[in-house]
Amino acid sequence: MAFTDVHISTVEKKKNGFVGVDIPSYDFITNCIHCGLCLPACPTYTLTGLEKSSPRGRIRLIKAVADGDLEITQGFVDEMHFCLDCQACETACPAGVKYGSLVEFARAQIYRQQKVSWLEKGLKWFFFEKVLSSKRNLKRAAKALRMYQRGGVERILNKTGILKMLAPKMAKLQHLSPRINEKFFDESFPEVVRPVGNAQHRVAFLSGCIMNVAFADVNRDTIEVLLHNGCEVVVPRMQECCGSLQAHNGDFETARKLARHNIDVFLQHDFEAIVINSAGCGAFMKEYGHYLADDRQYSERASLLSRKVKDLTEFLVSIDFKKPGHPFNKRVAYHDACHLAHAQRITTEPRAILEAIPGIDLVDLPEASWCCGSAGIYNVVHYEDSMQLLSRKMKNVESTHAELIVASNPGCIAQMKYGLDLFECTGEIIHLATLLNRAYASHD
Ligand code: SF4
Ligand code: SF4
Repeated sequence: MAFTDVHISTVEKKKNGFVGVDIPSYDFITNCIHCGLCLPACPTYTLTGLEKSSPRGRIRLIKAVADGDLEITQGFVDEMHFCLDCQACETACPAGVKYGSLVEFARAQIYRQQKVSWLEKGLKWFFFEKVLSSKRNLKRAAKALRMYQRGGVERILNKTGILKMLAPKMAKLQHLSPRINEKFFDESFPEVVRPVGNAQHRVAFLSGCIMNVAFADVNRDTIEVLLHNGCEVVVPRMQECCGSLQAHNGDFETARKLARHNIDVFLQHDFEAIVINSAGCGAFMKEYGHYLADDRQYSERASLLSRKVKDLTEFLVSIDFKKPGHPFNKRVAYHDACHLAHAQRITTEPRAILEAIPGIDLVDLPEASWCCGSAGIYNVVHYEDSMQLLSRKMKNVESTHAELIVASNPGCIAQMKYGLDLFECTGEIIHLATLLNRAYASHD
């Protein structure tokens, strides 16, 4: 069912609880049979033991608001944002309830009605609309952060303990911020990169927003891997952030604006797939068709683009990727990013790639698909809860004695790197593209 199949008009007939927002997922609410099978899969329910913090509890709340039986109270707002949007409940649900879209539409209503403090509103507007949504502004902000990180200010504030004294929360949060790269990704490659010899595939690549400025090395590894597999890679210069963080926080308008822009930019080129190395971006771009289903001008092209979106691992397996020729002797554990495992249901492809690398000892990570607590900006706005989830994740990581812990999402990588320091664990957290590129270069 498309997101717009059931509109507000349906709900308005029922007492007008949500106003002015499509409630395309309303049918999914009624699909819920209240069996509770999703409860043990839910990290926030496990943290609190409270029904209202479970998927089933939240579905009841959303339904009550949609039916007009409940106002959008502060408690409702808190509960919708306490949810990680990890979608583990969708994987567990036998009735096919699309919980992710329900909570996102509830957040959109909250956003539209501005049921948040002025400070939060201002910060979100600045971060999501002004910084993340413009590559130029994001690069300016990243340069300022880089100066803070590398220019000595951060070191002095930390060494003297001034930041901890004046702003203890900031002192903790600064360690969650990814290190800004010396050179941004889009400044190091031309728009079209060609492999040695004849290209067997032509793909487009989403360089991302945060990925572009803080994970440029991962993007470079991804390009190297694609070139190694005979791909000509188009990296459209004018592309912008995919819009996923905005949509997850309820700002559908900005997310749709970005989606339309990216559709125009990407579809100027001819390619068989858009390869994406960030689970959250891939999951969202696969939904462009749904988010723009009611846009006459864009709906068809949005669906076309969504069909072409492939996670890097999904694409490599589909083209029967080249296996590294030399052993890469490492003990490796794999962490499933929520938006890869639950939102895109991709779990076998990454493991198939790792298993195909000679020399790799792939060990099971207990609770591999349990959220690490990163979840977009969740680790910033719900720091304490996020750290509880991270502690659980790092205990599991430690139990594997793996040298490399592989993930396919920048948020998970940054969060677990922080976890290594915080909980004094050993190992290295790396992206699968980096591991594969190292394995190709290995001559052990
Ligand atoms: S998305 Fe995750 S945190 Fe939210 S209700 Fe579902 S399982 Fe719980
Ligand atoms: S598992 Fe599905 S049907 Fe059962 S309570 Fe959870 S959301 Fe409802």
